[in-house]
Amino acid sequence: MHEFSLMQSVLDTVETSARKAGAVRVTAIRLTIGEMAEVVFDAMEFAFEALSPETLSEGAELSMRSVIPRSRCCVCGEEFTHDRYHWACPSCDSLATELIAGRELFIDSIEIEESVSIGDSGLTSDSGSAGEPDSTNEPPVGQGADTQEEPDVIDDGRGAL
Ligand SMILES: [Zn+2]
Repeated sequence: MHEFSLMQSVLDTVETSARKAGAVRVTAIRLTIGEMAEVVFDAMEFAFEALSPETLSEGAELSMRSVIPRSRCCVCGEEFTHDRYHWACPSCDSLATELIAGRELFIDSIEIEESVSIGDSGLTSDSGSAGEPDSTNEPPVGQGADTQEEPDVIDDGRGAL
């Protein structure tokens, strides 16, 4: 069952980028999986349930999107989509075709919960803002002043596995 090793590397990658972003928890993981990757979604779910406990991803919502396979004909150059079992060229019937999409597996995005620091434990109260004149008197720029608790979305450039 290669889903276990796939999910393990997904979780490793997610863990690394979530920690870099200062996350305390991963709330959602979105994967894109080509239909030709021979990945059974149920098995991925199962692997996730088995491997995610004790990681930041524990309890995260896992969603998977499949990609329809696409091939290019080596004879006439036609590009076409197809299912897992039929990849003959629709315009010249050649079976000499090359898969150009549909075998990939990558992490689309993850959502994280960041740690909220309550109070600064007095570390910055005395020595603060000595070199920055009037930085506290500036009016807030833009209109993003309301406090919304939206989880951050990391889109780290589709880390291919
Ligand atoms: Zn063709």
